Amino acid sequence: MIADCHMHTEFSADSETKITDQVEQAIALNIPRICFTDHMDMDFPGGDFQLNTEAYVKRVLELQEEYKDKISIGLGVEVGLQEHLQERLQAYVDRYPFDFVIGSMHLIYGEDPYFGKIFDRVGDAEAYREYFQATHKALKKAPQIQTLGHLDYVVRYGREKDKEYSYKKFQDEIDEVLKLLVEKGIALEVNTAGFRMLSFPNPHPDVIRRYRELGGEMITIGSDAHTPQVMAYGYDKLPALLEACGFRYYTVFYQKKPRFIKIS
Ligand SMILES: [Zn+2]
Ligand SMILES: [Zn+2]
Repeated sequence: MIADCHMHTEFSADSETKITDQVEQAIALNIPRICFTDHMDMDFPGGDFQLNTEAYVKRVLELQEEYKDKISIGLGVEVGLQEHLQERLQAYVDRYPFDFVIGSMHLIYGEDPYFGKIFDRVGDAEAYREYFQATHKALKKAPQIQTLGHLDYVVRYGREKDKEYSYKKFQDEIDEVLKLLVEKGIALEVNTAGFRMLSFPNPHPDVIRRYRELGGEMITIGSDAHTPQVMAYGYDKLPALLEACGFRYYTVFYQKKPRFIKIS
């Protein structure tokens, strides 16, 4: 079984995809389990990325019922981590019946690296270091999340992508993040959208391997598809990649509880 546990729909500010189009695509691709994880980024610069959670939850629960004979649909959310949001985020994730909460770092120096301006100002390597440090700080104060989304996301948008990036180069900063995941029992997400911009998923296999070495046991997988065309993108590469990193199971969350699914 494969699952795609990171995807967006028109409920996210950065997607216009109808939620039913994602469901239909998953059925067409024979994916037995998907989880919607629309964006909730509180205190985001400009005020974007507020999720209309009431309407979103209602719609996902309706679809769960409507499609129950064809596909298993999870209710998830991707929350943007920021240190000062801990209590608000905890109250938020407790308020709704989420199966799965992805915590993601989307901001450094108060900007989303997606827009690329930061790299002109501080250079790629400095921005990457800042990203890992910011992730560590925010993770210490994170609400209860099930997985950390796209660690090393920042590398997708650097001026020279991974030219100044390797696990070794940022080992100290990355290890701090991974140790905290293991300590808190949080999974590491392998986000295959990385394959569309880099030669590897986010994070890099060296980071995935290191998580395992440090005692990490839970890998969640997702394509971060904002459109049906890229759902499960790069999934053909995952089994060999994950096995080479020491994993024999994926993790899929139901009502925030992990289930382990054999990779092959
Ligand atoms: Zn994200
Ligand atoms: Zn996402």
